[in-house]
Amino acid sequence: MEPLFEESIADISELHKFSDEDMKVLKTVDSAAEELVLSETENYLKRQFNKDAVKTCKKHGIFAIPVEIESGGRGMSPIVTLLAKERLGQVGLGLSSFLNVQIFLGELTLQRWANKEQKERYLKPAVKGDKILAFGLTEPDIGSNPESMKTIYKKRGGKFVISGSKYLITNGSIADNIILFARSSENKNEISSFIIDSKSAGFSATPLKEKIGLFTSDTAFLELNEVVVDKADILGRQGHGLSIAYSGLVNGRFGVSAGCIGCIEDCLNVVSNRAKERIQFNKPIGKHQLVQRHIAEIAKNLEMARWPAYFMAVKREEYDKSPENKTLIKEMDRQTSLAKRIASRLAFESADHAVQVFGGLGYTTLASPGRHYCDSRVTRIYEGTDEIMDLKIASYVLGDDFKAFY
Ligand SMILES: Cc1cc2nc3c(=O)[nH]c(=O)nc-3n(C[C@H](O)[C@H](O)[C@H](O)COP(=O)(O)OP(=O)(O)OC[C@H]3O[C@@H](n4cnc5c(N)ncnc54)[C@H](O)[C@@H]3O)c2cc1C
Repeated sequence: MEPLFEESIADISELHKFSDEDMKVLKTVDSAAEELVLSETENYLKRQFNKDAVKTCKKHGIFAIPVEIESGGRGMSPIVTLLAKERLGQVGLGLSSFLNVQIFLGELTLQRWANKEQKERYLKPAVKGDKILAFGLTEPDIGSNPESMKTIYKKRGGKFVISGSKYLITNGSIADNIILFARSSENKNEISSFIIDSKSAGFSATPLKEKIGLFTSDTAFLELNEVVVDKADILGRQGHGLSIAYSGLVNGRFGVSAGCIGCIEDCLNVVSNRAKERIQFNKPIGKHQLVQRHIAEIAKNLEMARWPAYFMAVKREEYDKSPENKTLIKEMDRQTSLAKRIASRLAFESADHAVQVFGGLGYTTLASPGRHYCDSRVTRIYEGTDEIMDLKIASYVLGDDFKAFY
């Protein structure tokens, strides 16, 4: 195992007693991460989705980690789930983004809101790695405020007909099913959630190639032109789409913060090696004190990112037992916003320090600091921007009367 991963397990064992099964799962995750390093780098350089990610995660049962046993999952605790995502985040944030949507926004949303038949049809195959999921909320004209979405659905007979577009959708052009949100054409206050089959007539997905990073993650523009959805594929209750979207985003932020911790760990691993090996002025650059400052910054960032996230994961155990408890929902929302906001900023700052330690090589995508630098920027945007996270955090301090974002 990577030394920093072992350290995380040792540190958390103060908060959580790891079972033999927990350790077995974490060892498997470590093997999957090891296996994916090369293909992630190769695909990053080719700027394409890493198909090996699906094969390797399937082989090691990664998609099953947090999911309930009755849906084919391994039922692992939030702490083990967070550590697993942290380890895979070390490999790269492209892989982390793919997994975030597949597992945290996809599977965990289905686990919470899908009925028995839907779990059979969509959740179980996703957990096995036989179906890829996406989460379609953002549109060209709406992002931070999904309440004003324009994609609409009309009732026709016993079915729904959906038209509109979704933008910047992770896994959008590789997904078999998309959890997609739309507004009723009859009642503008009614937003519902649907499970869309990407092979449906009228559905198309166009990959977005012009990103500034995250090259192994598929991002797409989705168009829905009168896509017909059976009423069996409405997710949760009609009109409850926003609650579903917001609960999905809380799961997503959990996963993003874990991935960012992995990113900081990789920065620390690679700069430590580089600082010992790279010689300038007849000594390893790590003996120059100004280089040590960069290393100290990354090490501090790692500690600052880890603990709010680990605390979030401990709290999450309680929330998972009573997901309807309003006090726990608020507490989880607050803790997850804090963890995501802190870890994403520190991942970006750490990547910047790592680029500096690597010098010119750092400014290429051949070494991981340059890739982390390009990739980590988006973690401050997707699944809730820095600004929206700050508004949430402030409103938890000031009270509901001060909610500034809706
Ligand atoms: C690579 C990538 C992958 C993505 N994957 C997905 C996905 O899988 N599914 C999905 O649905 N979406 C996805 N997104 C979209 C992402 O969630 C949105 O980009 C994000 O929510 C911000 O929305 P926006 O881009 O429309 O920005 P806007 O909402 O237009 O915001 C622009 C700026 O204004 C600020 N702002 C907005 N409102 C306020 C306010 N009230 N107070 C203060 N500041 C404010 C924002 O913080 C931001 O800085 C992805 C985006 C990217 C880049």
